[in-house]
Amino acid sequence: MEQLLASRLVNGLVIKIMRSNGVVHGATVSSVDPQRLSVHVEWNEGSLCKGKEVSFMDVVMVNPELLEAANDPPSVKENLPPQGNMASQDQKRKTISRIPAPREAPVQNAVVENGAQTALRGRSTRMTAIPESLPPDPDMEVETSAQPVVQSQPNPGVRTRSSKVSGASDPRVLPRMNESADDSSTSNARSSQARRKSNIVKEMEKMKSKREEKRAQNSQARSKRGQDYDTSAPNWEFGKMIKEFRATLECQRLSMNDQAEEHRICVCVRKRPLNRQEATKKEIDIVSVPSKSLVLVHEPKQKVDLTKYLENQAFRFDYAFDESATNDMVYRFTARPLVQSIFEGGKATCFAYGQTGSGKTHTMGGDFLGKSQNVTKGVYAFASQDVFLLLSQQRYKDLDLEVFVTFFEIYNGKVFDLLNKKAKLRVLEDAKQEVQVVGLVEKEVLCAEDVFKMIEIGSACRTSGQTFANSNSSRSHACLQIILRRRGRLHGKFSLVDLAGNERGADTASADRTTRMEGAEINRSLLALKECIRALGQNKAHTPFRESKLTQILRDSFIGENSRTCMIAMLSPGFTSCEYTLNTLRYADRVKELSPHATGSADNQQMETESGSSPGAPEDQDNVSLKDEELSSHMNSFQAAMSRIGELEEKVVEELRDLVQKGPEWSDLLEMTEKPDYDMEKFVTRADHLLQENSRVLITLSESLGFLRGAMTTEERASREISKRKPRP
Ligand code: ADP
Ligand code: MG
Repeated sequence: MEQLLASRLVNGLVIKIMRSNGVVHGATVSSVDPQRLSVHVEWNEGSLCKGKEVSFMDVVMVNPELLEAANDPPSVKENLPPQGNMASQDQKRKTISRIPAPREAPVQNAVVENGAQTALRGRSTRMTAIPESLPPDPDMEVETSAQPVVQSQPNPGVRTRSSKVSGASDPRVLPRMNESADDSSTSNARSSQARRKSNIVKEMEKMKSKREEKRAQNSQARSKRGQDYDTSAPNWEFGKMIKEFRATLECQRLSMNDQAEEHRICVCVRKRPLNRQEATKKEIDIVSVPSKSLVLVHEPKQKVDLTKYLENQAFRFDYAFDESATNDMVYRFTARPLVQSIFEGGKATCFAYGQTGSGKTHTMGGDFLGKSQNVTKGVYAFASQDVFLLLSQQRYKDLDLEVFVTFFEIYNGKVFDLLNKKAKLRVLEDAKQEVQVVGLVEKEVLCAEDVFKMIEIGSACRTSGQTFANSNSSRSHACLQIILRRRGRLHGKFSLVDLAGNERGADTASADRTTRMEGAEINRSLLALKECIRALGQNKAHTPFRESKLTQILRDSFIGENSRTCMIAMLSPGFTSCEYTLNTLRYADRVKELSPHATGSADNQQMETESGSSPGAPEDQDNVSLKDEELSSHMNSFQAAMSRIGELEEKVVEELRDLVQKGPEWSDLLEMTEKPDYDMEKFVTRADHLLQENSRVLITLSESLGFLRGAMTTEERASREISKRKPRP
């Protein structure tokens, strides 16, 4: 009988269903599951498209004719007329958010089954999954519209279990379902119908017991799945929920055969695997990458009554790389499409963003073989190889291009040359606002291997003298530039930046001033970077590049027609990194706002207009969410003081340099007096002149020092107020 039903219940067939409140109405079969002995049906209620899984047995209960008319197979359009228009229903289905995805569609978006709530929130989607969500309860009605369901109203013309038929004229009510079926005139017909009915009852009983058996099996499988999970791990319940959730996802990961798209601004996410330390601690992995552009964070939450649940948040980017992606793959879709633009006279930038330990250096500098880094397997190296590959092509050969590299680090707003023993460099801006890093070593390279050597030298220099691993590099931005020159003149430039750990930006309340300064500078530079990229995307005239040293130095790469950029946001997938993972995703999301529900080319989507926030403004601090107004005002004065400290420090150093440069002149003066016949007249004039010059410098220096001290006091006070209100964990 099941087979017969399975063959007759075809997609598009309209059948009657009985709702939990007894209401019977028509619905369209959207899928049939012969394994589960059930069908999924859909119907419209007002503007809502609703759906429900109905067992074969329940189908037969209200549609006995399906078995009776054994020789008369139903056509798709027969039976009850559809409630609403099928075309519009299909339309709706396409825009529905589903996680997990329906079997027939790739997971693009999100749905949560079994009474879970779906809240659409701008670009990222928040969903709440409740435990025990699988397998779906066949009796559960699932809302398949993005709009909230109000109380379900019986449709006009349908009847409840207890009510009388509303009228034979109503086409939605099958004649056999109402009393008129008993109007049969012959007793023969009556007895044959009775026989048929008793057969149906028997069949239904069989189905019922089969169904109960299936249910018992499912529940066994469910508890087995629970036992399969290592319950000695901390937070294992969340781990189990995530595992069950993932089992429903149909993942479509990016493949090397996929075509890399052309983007002016490309924002991607890369999830690294759990590392050995995290695995030893049995940390759970809370990040899923169900498709090539979607990332889900399963945020573990607990209700007041201690019920554990997951809040799933979805983010969409140009590309999303899961833990199995290699550096090669990441390069192919991120930096590689930008290489050619520098041959065409453009500027390109590529940033690795994320918290410390999320894989920035691994991606940019090369993967690690034990402690040593394999510099030939990172984005820096792959880009260099492609530069030399293009250089050898006929179309670029005639350009007479020469390749140079620079490698420097920006730490606390100061620039250090990684190809010259970390020499501190001055950043000067000329009248045309062109920024120069004075004395930065530019090494000519003739092949990719030459670049590998520079990467090795620079990386070793970056990490040298550190007391513990990552201590300095997590607080500095490292920038490798590949520069193309044509007869000495700049032709194109590719800057590849391994950014400071974004969590460092939250060090505003540290007891130590250096840490606070580092934190403020990191925060400022990451916010300025975000705004610069947004400005680039919106073709804005004003780019706030002066907000930080990083953006100031990269200024020329952000302006001009031919500028392109790419950001790779790195994620540590562990439970303990959840907060920073969400911060990283929110930041990357702001850089280029893509809706998790949109499909099609990301570049075709309009970027939102700016919200008026500026880097450093508390409401825009990705690392600190400040609600309290007082705290926010201290935060403002802290940021302002920090930025002033940065400027004044530079000023003081320049004035001191001036003073020191005058040192030899004092020595000359002294030497002059040592000669027996020195010219006293000349001596006095020179001494007087020198004194006047020096006193001018000294007065300015003394003033600057006073201002610096004042800014330091303001900063200290603000930081103290912040730590009072926002105690560090
Ligand atoms: P960051 O530069 O962001 O602080 P690292 O690149 O130093 O982080 O990575 C931290 C650790 O994680 C390193 O041991 C690195 O080898 C490892 N790691 C990072 N990304 C990956 C990855 N995709 N696959 C395997 N190991 C990774
Ligand atoms: Mg690093």
